[in-house]
Amino acid sequence: MRYPKLRELKEAITALIKGPYTSKFPFEPHVPEKRFRGKPEYFKDGCVGCKACAEVCPTDCIEVKDIPDAETPVRKLELHYDSCIFCGQCQAACITQEGIKLSNKFDLAIFDRSQAIESVEKELVLCEGCGCVIGAKEHLAWVAKKLGPLAYSSPTSYLSALKELKLAYLDIQKSEELTRQDRIKVLCPKCRREVTLKT
Ligand code: SF4
Ligand code: SF4
Repeated sequence: MRYPKLRELKEAITALIKGPYTSKFPFEPHVPEKRFRGKPEYFKDGCVGCKACAEVCPTDCIEVKDIPDAETPVRKLELHYDSCIFCGQCQAACITQEGIKLSNKFDLAIFDRSQAIESVEKELVLCEGCGCVIGAKEHLAWVAKKLGPLAYSSPTSYLSALKELKLAYLDIQKSEELTRQDRIKVLCPKCRREVTLKT
């Protein structure tokens, strides 16, 4: 007959006195540790729509959908958490540090995987020359604020900042042909180059 090792005996006695180490989930609610990395969640007020989180995601589970033809052009960020590995890179790379955070939610099983989406929507700014997407409105304002006085080197930046302060009105309409006066407009790099070469 083999006798139990002393270490195993000690564990058995400790478990008898202190109770099991594991929780009784799902019969009792489980409270994860403080630094547990669970389902990532967007915070609309903290997110500016820069899409840095999508660019760093190692599993490509954050889809960026730009819809410039909508009545209000929008950027939709859709995080498919059924493909997420909870690495936390999106949270670490978030430029505002307030746009996306990993929650402690772990009980994520569902029957329909297409419903496993966490999303946020941000208004887009389009080029007044060709109508292509320049970026999310709040992102441009965030960049202008970061740049401070340097933002005045680019009309796209300072107009975004002035619009945010309600000191300018951006009536964005596509121009048929870019002329000299279009220098003071929100333009994509291609259209700005065209205007600069003309003037
Ligand atoms: S936690 Fe990692 S895998 Fe999940 S969305 Fe963020 S970056 Fe992607
Ligand atoms: S602000 Fe943060 S959460 Fe929002 S798109 Fe940028 S990186 Fe993602």
